[in-house]
Amino acid sequence: MVRPQRPRRPLIERTHSIDIRRLKRDGQIASGETMVLLWTGGARSEVRLAHLERPVFGGFRTYFCCPGCDRLCDLLYACPNIACRRCHNLAFASENETQAGRSLRRLLKQRDRLGQAEGGVVAPFPSKPRWWRWPRYLRARRKAMQREREYWRDFHAAMVNGKYLPKGRKSGNAINEDQDRR
Ligand SMILES: [Zn+2]
Repeated sequence: MVRPQRPRRPLIERTHSIDIRRLKRDGQIASGETMVLLWTGGARSEVRLAHLERPVFGGFRTYFCCPGCDRLCDLLYACPNIACRRCHNLAFASENETQAGRSLRRLLKQRDRLGQAEGGVVAPFPSKPRWWRWPRYLRARRKAMQREREYWRDFHAAMVNGKYLPKGRKSGNAINEDQDRR
């Protein structure tokens, strides 16, 4: 079944980030420096730095110490105060995917492994790639077909309940107008 959506966290991809690796590459951090000043939205924040010796490649690797939790990290986010991903409770886009989006992505991945380039889940199921052995192919196909059946069953159920309607387009929709009148 399609589960109700979890409350959404702010997306990491949409949040302003500061990358220590980029600062270093651009020569904005001198070696041995213990503090860096970051300007974000007119506000100034002092962030501590940590230099850790690299075990294999030698030399030093520089990290931010998150002003919120002291964790060492490569990236800090300004939203608006500067802190790490965990302090801001930021999510990656893939974590915020809906249940339906996640299962669709899995189905496409399976077809992709079988060499299907286009057509998505409405194209006929891909035939056995030359380099696959039959038992493996049949096993994979049985499993994928089962998953696809479940996906379509949930999809149809959700269509009936109107859950697939994009946000903000519900008003003026025939189905919803019908429900309003009841
Ligand atoms: Zn933190």
